[in-house]
Amino acid sequence: MPKVLIIGAGGVGGVVAHKCAANPDVFEQIVLASRTKSKCDAIADQVKQMQGREITTARVDADDVAETVELIEQVRPDLLINVALPYQDLPLMDACLQTKVDYLDTANYEPKDTAKFEYHWQWAYRERFRDAGIMALLGSGFDPGVTNVFCAHARDNLFDTIDTIDILDCNGGDHGHAFATNFNPEINIREITQAGRYWEGGEWVEIEAMSQDRVFDFPGVGERKAFLLYHEELESLVEHVPGLQRIRFWMTFGEEYLTHLRVLGNVGLTSIDPIEFQGHKIVPLQFLKALLPDPASLAEGYTGKTSIGCLIAGHKDGKPKEVFIHNICDHAETYREVRAQAVSYTTGVPASIGAEMMLTRTWHEPGVWNMEQFDSAPFLARLAECGLPWHVQER
Ligand code: NDP
Repeated sequence: MPKVLIIGAGGVGGVVAHKCAANPDVFEQIVLASRTKSKCDAIADQVKQMQGREITTARVDADDVAETVELIEQVRPDLLINVALPYQDLPLMDACLQTKVDYLDTANYEPKDTAKFEYHWQWAYRERFRDAGIMALLGSGFDPGVTNVFCAHARDNLFDTIDTIDILDCNGGDHGHAFATNFNPEINIREITQAGRYWEGGEWVEIEAMSQDRVFDFPGVGERKAFLLYHEELESLVEHVPGLQRIRFWMTFGEEYLTHLRVLGNVGLTSIDPIEFQGHKIVPLQFLKALLPDPASLAEGYTGKTSIGCLIAGHKDGKPKEVFIHNICDHAETYREVRAQAVSYTTGVPASIGAEMMLTRTWHEPGVWNMEQFDSAPFLARLAECGLPWHVQER
């Protein structure tokens, strides 16, 4: 009876719960646990109404390894899906090691006091996971996640050599708020306000945050300005795409969003350095998060589409070749299907497919792995069937 334990009941956690529930052959039992149990219960009610399945709920503080170990021992899952926050990655991996349970996440570890998201902390678990005979699959969301699998497909099936990769992420949607973030505000703002970074000619190049942009014609959305950011899949793809000369990541932002972000930054509200306020220590960005809309609450009435993909250039049979492998996802359609906006959906669907790959032993190898280290074909076949059709555009 394969059983999965999902940790985190935000926008992404809701989608993972729905998609696992909609696939009873693979996910026979589902437990959803998070810091606030009422959020798990609300998702369980919705899953019961829409998918006709019961899921069990629990409360856990995933920062506390002993508490998670106790929950895992009660539930005895075959796999733990971490869709809480990147801060919980290491404590949850420790709990999985102690209980010998497989692990999957969608975002790499970040220490609370430095906005640095890098894989070395999680890669350092490789030997311990291998020795314990358990598997960790890192970054099984959209970007990272599907973008890594698109690159693996290009590497293995479409090109003889890959020279450059540009990952392009556009949200062409409108949620009607002057300023809101589509996933956890604290994590989102930490990501955008740090220095930009890309890899070229064998080394990392650092640039000032948001200082390079390009206009790209996104299928399904149209022309949008995208800004160069550092993003975690660059770090693993550099390791796993031989011969690569350059890889960059770009994300679109509207003028309204950028103006708000600049003003909030200027007044110090995006800082992660604690300040004294009326006798309390507070982190300005955490205070700002408390004021901003919950990403899951944006879903109702959200219109427009996301368009995310990999622009890959290289050679095939001696000739230059360029493709854009991408998915287009509609906010209103994802709301109809699982009551979520497209950013949560494009993350939660690949998390549930990664989990299916592991539970069915299609992808299973003790150790700590990134998505592009496995055969892309079975994952991509399920991606299209599960609501995220993908396309290869020759350019
Ligand atoms: P939300 O903020 O909506 O949800 C986070 C959830 O985690 C909340 O339910 C929160 O509980 C819970 N949580 C936080 N801390 C703890 C803790 N210590 N113990 C237990 N539960 C905890 O975020 P999203 O759903 O938007 O994002 C979830 C994850 O997905 C993030 O890591 C994000 O970086 C990642 N992501 C990945 C993407 C990709 O493409 N790879 C894209 C988008 C997101 P509470 O309600 O109590 O705060």
